[in-house]
Amino acid sequence: MIATTATVTQVGLWRDWRSWSANVSALWRRSLRFRTLTITLLLTASAVFVTCGTMALVIANDLFESRKDQALADARRAVAAAQSTLDAAEVGDDRAAFVALWRVVQRDLRGTSSSDRIAVFQGDIEPGGYAPPTFGSIELLDDGLVSPTLRTRVETLDDVQSWQSVALEEDGDDVPGIIVGQQMFVPDVGPYEVYIAYDLSDSEQTLVFVQRTLWVAGLSLVAIIAGISWIVLRSMSVPIVEAAETSARFATGDLGVRIPVHGEDELATLGRSFNAMADSIEAQIKELGELSLVQQRFVSDVSHELRTPLTTIRLAADMLNDQRGDFDPTTARTAELLHTQVQRFETLLNDLLEISRYDAGSVQLELEATSLAHLAEDVIDQMRPLADGHGTELRLVAPGGYSPVDMDARRVRRVLRNLIGNAIEHGEGRPVVVTVDSNQHAVAIGVRDFGLGMSAADVDRVFDRFWRADPSRQRTIGGTGLGLSIALGDARLHGGTLSVWSELAVGSNFVLTIPRHPGALLGPSPVSLEPEDALGDLSDATQPLHIAQVRYELDAEANGAVDPDAARDRKDRP
Ligand code: ADP
Repeated sequence: MIATTATVTQVGLWRDWRSWSANVSALWRRSLRFRTLTITLLLTASAVFVTCGTMALVIANDLFESRKDQALADARRAVAAAQSTLDAAEVGDDRAAFVALWRVVQRDLRGTSSSDRIAVFQGDIEPGGYAPPTFGSIELLDDGLVSPTLRTRVETLDDVQSWQSVALEEDGDDVPGIIVGQQMFVPDVGPYEVYIAYDLSDSEQTLVFVQRTLWVAGLSLVAIIAGISWIVLRSMSVPIVEAAETSARFATGDLGVRIPVHGEDELATLGRSFNAMADSIEAQIKELGELSLVQQRFVSDVSHELRTPLTTIRLAADMLNDQRGDFDPTTARTAELLHTQVQRFETLLNDLLEISRYDAGSVQLELEATSLAHLAEDVIDQMRPLADGHGTELRLVAPGGYSPVDMDARRVRRVLRNLIGNAIEHGEGRPVVVTVDSNQHAVAIGVRDFGLGMSAADVDRVFDRFWRADPSRQRTIGGTGLGLSIALGDARLHGGTLSVWSELAVGSNFVLTIPRHPGALLGPSPVSLEPEDALGDLSDATQPLHIAQVRYELDAEANGAVDPDAARDRKDRP
């Protein structure tokens, strides 16, 4: 249990850390202020750190050198005083006088030196006769503070001072110190080694104080620079943030926004230039909008005006076509051609009128409860003669979509006619599969062909007005290039979608999805856009496919609910 709690805590910490680092990296990417402040702080802190570190080292070195020089001078003075006492004395063989002289030497050393940690060792003295004894503080004599290396150096270098850093004991604590060693010559006896230890703790305290002051000054400097940077950045970045927000709002279509301009500096110039640019763009967009309105009105007016003469022409063309049996072959063919072209003209005019209605926003849906599966069946029956003419087999796969859903049946029928017509036209005589299905959100119909297909670039433009793929494609139905853009308008009017998948020489799949309840689509389409089927896998396609039912059940399970309408669909199925 404890192990589990520990693991949970670790996981929580790890998550916290990850979300924390993600927040910081997001802030780093998005905030100019945060980035500049962090960089300034890092650079200043590194500069202060390097400067303070170097200064502390230099000061420490300097302090030690000067204190060492003091110690050497002090020791030299003390040894010189003792040496001059020794040189001036005339003791001969008088042992008592020698002992008295030795006391004077000790007093000279202690009196002249600033340190009382003194020791005098016998050196390489001549044998026989009286030799004054070793004396000094126990610390130096017994504690082994004077290292053999220092002793060897002092023994071998007659007149030269040698030194060594040591740790001295002061009130039970170790303090830094230095021992200076030098030879002293006792006449008629030989060389003696004088060692004087100096306490450097006062220098160490000075060094600690200097270093502390340096670091406090350094950190204060970093804090002051951070504060100054923050103030400067704020004054700089507030106008930049304002400009960024204003341009973002402008880009989303709020053409009336402008940057507030204060003063006459560079940022004010930037604001003024932006505002001037926004004025010009707003004026141009307004102008283009008005122009486009004029164009829409023109198209609509012309189409309306053409309707009456065209009706007369169509009546005349129909009449001529009906009587073409009485004409000679050339006139009969001309009457037939006239009839077809007038029909095309009429279709184009109707399409144009429909488009101009969309542009004017005057299209109203006439909703009625309609079964998409039955509607599809109906349209397929209507289209069968055309399909037979192309040698195309029309198949309906309808695992769902039977229960009525509110839709404008006339418009949906028109969309289906267009999609199935295109599939027959570009389907190369291969079967066209129409799939109808539903889920709890929507009903959908897919029209799949296995014909010419389209390239990715063509797919991008397929809903553009008057656009047609490769004009060399053979056309028999004589479309206007407006069919799919009208179909897309119809789908959007229902709050649905019209999507396309296509691959050159593989085929195309158009999927129209209509929400069950008016409004936007809430979930995925029941008919998948990218087909997984191979042509050979589809058996008797007019029968609902079992596999689709299985997929429905899985979808319903995944969505956590079985839609009552969709469930009814299955029961209603003929
Ligand atoms: P059209 O009246 O020319 O059919 P559409 O808007 O319906 O106008 O279609 C536009 C163009 O999209 C067509 O001319 C054709 O090139 C291409 N297209 C549409 N459907 C298909 C399809 N199923 N397969 C291949 N190309 C298609």
